[in-house]
Amino acid sequence: MNVLSLYRKLYGEKTIEGLKTMCKIPITVKKCGLCRGNALLRYEKMKGYIEGSFFDVYECSSCNATFVDPLKSDEKIYDYIYKQVQIVPGYDRYYRYSEVVKKVNDPLSFLCNSESVYWAVRETLLKYSPRKDSISILEIGSGLGYLTYSLNKAGYKTTRQLKVLRNSLILLNLRNQ
Ligand SMILES: [Zn+2]
Repeated sequence: MNVLSLYRKLYGEKTIEGLKTMCKIPITVKKCGLCRGNALLRYEKMKGYIEGSFFDVYECSSCNATFVDPLKSDEKIYDYIYKQVQIVPGYDRYYRYSEVVKKVNDPLSFLCNSESVYWAVRETLLKYSPRKDSISILEIGSGLGYLTYSLNKAGYKTTRQLKVLRNSLILLNLRNQ
């Protein structure tokens, strides 16, 4: 349940302006960049990875996407993260995935059993493109490249990964590119 739904359940009010009056607490709303729905402020001044950086976190009431304000990041942060990816909390598991997929027989199943997002990728591909050879997959922002690698091993035609940020590491070199 998103925060707007919760407010409406508690207060039974439909409009955001009405909720602001009824709740007597500040409700900050921004337009969602994906669907243009109303997104409510969930966390204010959350600490960023770079000392002295802070972000407000919004949650969209229509599509449930979360995003930050300001919606920008310093490229250097990803350079720092990927230079020591093995020990950065949250990213260390990505490094672990990139190592394990090279050693298991069915890397895509391994990823699907590790995190729901990979399961969702596989299910969506099976639903919309049951013939693996009928599509070509481009992963944008591929990080360490293990998902593209695993899709390739599962029989999907993958194109060269697109690195969104400069100087990030590519630990897996794919064949068939
Ligand atoms: Zn949205």
